[in-house]
Amino acid sequence: MKCEGCGAELQCENETLPGYIPREVLESKVLSGEKILCQRCFRARHYGKLMPVHLKDFSQQLREIINSMNIDIVVWVLDITDFEGSYDSMISAILRDVRKIFVVNKIDLLPRAVTVKEIEGWVRKNLNEESFEIILTSATKNYGLKKLFESISKFQRVLFIGVTNVGKSSLFKKITGADVSITPFPGTTLGLIHAKIFKTNLYDSPGITTGRRVIDLLKPDSQKKLVPVKHLSRYTFKPEKDRVIFLGGLCRLDVNFESEMRPIFQVFASESVKFHETSETKADELWRKLYGKLLTPPFDPEELSMESLNFQEKTFELNVAEELSIAGLGWLSVRRGPLEICLKTIDGIYVRKREALINPLRKERRT
Ligand code: GDP
Repeated sequence: MKCEGCGAELQCENETLPGYIPREVLESKVLSGEKILCQRCFRARHYGKLMPVHLKDFSQQLREIINSMNIDIVVWVLDITDFEGSYDSMISAILRDVRKIFVVNKIDLLPRAVTVKEIEGWVRKNLNEESFEIILTSATKNYGLKKLFESISKFQRVLFIGVTNVGKSSLFKKITGADVSITPFPGTTLGLIHAKIFKTNLYDSPGITTGRRVIDLLKPDSQKKLVPVKHLSRYTFKPEKDRVIFLGGLCRLDVNFESEMRPIFQVFASESVKFHETSETKADELWRKLYGKLLTPPFDPEELSMESLNFQEKTFELNVAEELSIAGLGWLSVRRGPLEICLKTIDGIYVRKREALINPLRKERRT
């Protein structure tokens, strides 16, 4: 028996494989003669969202989808508040020869002092790509949607891709409205959400998890808490020597510097990331005691037990107008340097020192 959405053979054994449907649901649908959808298609149809897929599986199928469906253009949705977490080099390599538009979403969350031109210039420099179009958007504030629609409506087949929580389904829904169906995709574990506007077929793909972002390690409920919706919290630190700053329980910064003047930096993250400053001597004990309690994320010490994690450290030299970004968690932006930060976070999380997105030396202001 096959799913009437994606065409996968229905099965009740393994939730992670295509065609899964809980046995009781299958039995009741057979009895009532109702249309039978696998769990993935059921959720897609009712919540407008496909279940996430891991990068490893997604990247294997991406090329096949593009070729066999004659995709004209890929819309790759990035999150400006998590650039490192949403721009992945493996996907970039697969899409090297594919025509694409980068949609940089959630620009409403940046401080208003940063201009749209500045954001675009920064993204352009930080993308390791040859030719591309960039459109800045805010799905919640309806910014940039008209421009995005105008750009894609020239094409017949458009595929949306992006890691989870960047706002891809919000954008897709805003552009297409509610009338979507599921496209079967034989031979792959993916279904695609399909909508048609005039001559353009738009396809939304499942959100990708990479395992390189802090947010990927949390349970779905906690992930929701960690995604900033209305505000980013911004906190300014001006630490003395040998101070330690925690960004929740999953990231610790040991600060050091030589100069007479204390360094100044700002940390940007979701409001649910609790910042806490302490002395080096108290830091270890405080970390153990407050992990998952005052120091969130994680939002419960058992969610990711401290003992089960492998923390790695790396030291960064930072100066004014440089930033240190921790994928899926937040970033710090230096206002006065130089300083040295020994950063401890979970092994495998992507951390990058970069030119400042929120540059204290900038001249222009957003109008
Ligand atoms: P997806 O996993 O990429 O499909 O992301 P969703 O569309 O489900 O969005 C994830 C979260 O980000 C939701 O809480 C959205 O409300 C929020 N979100 C989406 N777009 C924006 C945006 O432009 N600005 C802000 N502030 N939040 C957004």
